[in-house]
Amino acid sequence: MKIKLSFLGAAQNVTGSRHFLEANGVRILVDCGLYQEREFRARNWEKFPVPPKSIDAVLLTHAHLDHCGLIPKLVREGFQGRIYCTDATADITRIILLDSAKIQEEDAKFKRKRHKREGRKGPFPEIPLYTTEDANSCFPLFSTVKYEQPVRIADGVEASFHDAGHILGASMIKVDIGRNGDKRSVLFSGDVGRWGKPILQDPSLFEEADYVLVESTYGDRIHDKNEDISRTLAEAINTAKRSGGKIIVPSFALERSQEVLYHLNDLLTKGRIPDVKVFVDSPMAVNVTDVFKKHTDLFDDEMIERLSKGNSPFHFPNLKMVRTVNESKAINMMRGTFIVIAGSGMCTGGRVKHHLVNNISKPNTAVLFVGYQAAGTLGRHIVDGAKEARILGKKYKVKARIIRIHGFSGHADRDELMRWLSGLKKPPKKVFVVHGEAEAAHNFADYLIEKNGWQVSVPKYHDTVILE
Ligand SMILES: [Zn+2]
Repeated sequence: MKIKLSFLGAAQNVTGSRHFLEANGVRILVDCGLYQEREFRARNWEKFPVPPKSIDAVLLTHAHLDHCGLIPKLVREGFQGRIYCTDATADITRIILLDSAKIQEEDAKFKRKRHKREGRKGPFPEIPLYTTEDANSCFPLFSTVKYEQPVRIADGVEASFHDAGHILGASMIKVDIGRNGDKRSVLFSGDVGRWGKPILQDPSLFEEADYVLVESTYGDRIHDKNEDISRTLAEAINTAKRSGGKIIVPSFALERSQEVLYHLNDLLTKGRIPDVKVFVDSPMAVNVTDVFKKHTDLFDDEMIERLSKGNSPFHFPNLKMVRTVNESKAINMMRGTFIVIAGSGMCTGGRVKHHLVNNISKPNTAVLFVGYQAAGTLGRHIVDGAKEARILGKKYKVKARIIRIHGFSGHADRDELMRWLSGLKKPPKKVFVVHGEAEAAHNFADYLIEKNGWQVSVPKYHDTVILE
């Protein structure tokens, strides 16, 4: 029996997850993600290393763009097999891919115009990487699975999906290969979530696997466990209320917005914050929240108990979901203290920019950052303490209070990754450390070797290994 594994993305970097497994003549792609780091974005335009037509199936761990974002291109270029994932992942992926296609289309249009005006050519073609039509043609290929129920991918190849505790519907995938006693298993961690997070279940543990691919986004860091998210939120809101200011929360539409709602509802219910209105001003966040409402079976016990008492973080008297532009504009006319959760999370686009324009120069405003701010983004500029910010083409003085909450991370840190691996009763034949910047991945690999004495490697882009 010959099993070959190729690392076609998220190898010594964080985005573009894509692993290719060949076993018993069956060809499987695990994830097909978009590259988002500037230095690797050219790879999105490259020809697929494997002819899409020759791939039998895609196994999708979760709906984040760096895991699903190249599927429309794969399908357009000939992939005709099934795309296996959980129900919730299929629902959220649909929202994410349609949004991504729209951004690709708008970007191409904008670049065409700009390059024409400037009389030059950019590094990539001035056409969308994929269109809305391309995205729509993927959805009929989705084949949904349930957690813990193995599905037959082909003769002698079975896959099972297990809750990753990362975002709603996210999975760790175990692929079992072989027949008649000659068997191997390959475990793909996907993105490993965290223990004790609200709404979601804890990450699943595994007792055995021959080969393991483990992510390492925070493989050399430890999250601050003492940060009290509720207390920081409550303080920010109470202070803003006393001075009559507004609270702007730039937030990612998926998972983060729902988690912020969870905390706000909790604070309101316990009377720790005054009776202020909460707006979710992002059509995408509203759509994703609807998916959450549909998949209550995936919630953790605490959340299910909350719902059974009629207390939902996604439906409470002070909460208003905002879809239309007119409704969004109306928020800006309102006086007094309220909370607006709006995209994008790093203030690079979306409706949050309008709210910043209207409020960032007021000393009684609080801008509450709940997510990672990448270098070069408006969000990063603001959290780094800028006195002035350019928003929608105009400069504004930054007088608002800028507050950061770090504790929302959806990725396991080094100790949590070790906890996940500690479920294994005996050492795997080999562990491959993926999905981390080169330094984080190598540091985690070294740590794992030192602590457990296991066989560990950090593959490079395009590396191929034979799994004995
Ligand atoms: Zn993810």
